[in-house]
Amino acid sequence: MDSPLNQLLLYCRPGFEAEAGRELTDAAAALGAWGYFQPADGMGWLQFTLAGGMDAPALLSGLPLSTLVFVRDWMVVVAEVELPATDRVGAVLDAVRDAGVDAVPGCDRIEVRVPENNSDADLSRFARKWVAPLSRALRGAGLLGDGGGNGDRLELLLVDFSRVVIGISPVNNRARWPMGIPRLKLSEAAPSRSALKLEEAWKVLLPEGRALDYLGGGKTGVDLGAAPGGWTWQLVQQGMTVTAVDNGPMDDALMATGMVTHVQSDGYLWRPKRAVDWMVCDIVDKPRRTATMVSDWFADQLCRYSVFNLKLPMKRRYEEWLVCRDLIGERLAEAPFAVRLRARQLYHDREEITCFLERTD
Ligand code: SAM
Repeated sequence: MDSPLNQLLLYCRPGFEAEAGRELTDAAAALGAWGYFQPADGMGWLQFTLAGGMDAPALLSGLPLSTLVFVRDWMVVVAEVELPATDRVGAVLDAVRDAGVDAVPGCDRIEVRVPENNSDADLSRFARKWVAPLSRALRGAGLLGDGGGNGDRLELLLVDFSRVVIGISPVNNRARWPMGIPRLKLSEAAPSRSALKLEEAWKVLLPEGRALDYLGGGKTGVDLGAAPGGWTWQLVQQGMTVTAVDNGPMDDALMATGMVTHVQSDGYLWRPKRAVDWMVCDIVDKPRRTATMVSDWFADQLCRYSVFNLKLPMKRRYEEWLVCRDLIGERLAEAPFAVRLRARQLYHDREEITCFLERTD
């Protein structure tokens, strides 16, 4: 590389920029890299500058995105461009050329994004229409590959009509969906929109290509805080028989499947008589309470897999996640089996994060 690539652009849920920045600061430091960030409050993205230790491509090659919670996607920044009112394509070409980055021709494709919270329909339309002429021009200038690339993607975040950030999204270490935003369709049969959250959790948090191993084969499940039944419905869709624990009413059509037993009880206290494969929990309560309860289920070997939400407090949200993570780790440290915890703030999450805990032996 001729030019120093010391900047990353991070995508996160709008409003969680500081959490994403702090998380990456800590993760980079653990690998021997120092950096700082400029939080752009409520934008859903932020820039992170590496000041020492390693450059951005090196950091990305040692830090899997899947280990981060608040950073939903990222790219290595190649250039930041002030766009003129005319010949915006020319301005991008100049900037990419001036950046002198060897890796860009490894990209075969470009994506033009707008910020997640963008409400300007004209900007979105412009971004869509810009892809074809921009690709042609970059290819013509030898700045974009033509089929023989390595799968990396040239990404442009069109902040507004006068500013674009250009970066490389690495094929082996990026979100499954650009910006971590999945396009999932809610089935009409689903009893609630929450169903999308569990679907996204499985897609993001289960090892890729292993969904059938984890979910199929007629497994058993418990859904704590189940009503009206979006998550239970997802479990049933996988062929599971489910105990749904909630004092609230469950969806009639879901109950008519005969796959669900509804128990009106306190989800934090209720325990199954026999171990099940899956326990999921979508109760809105103190995150430490949920983390403790889930740890107890695993310590008592009552389930093998769990997806659960941690509803974060208004303040000290990053710290609260760290406390819950450590609490689970400490409580299961002495267990005669190994566990793996992954967590992510999903696109369908709001003030919460979603965790996946599994017994791995
Ligand atoms: N996952 C559900 C779905 O997909 O339809 C939505 C769950 S909703 C966010 C939270 C549920 O937790 C509510 O139905 C509420 O009655 C239930 N809840 C709250 N505290 C509970 C507790 N201690 N035990 C069991 N359920 C509880």
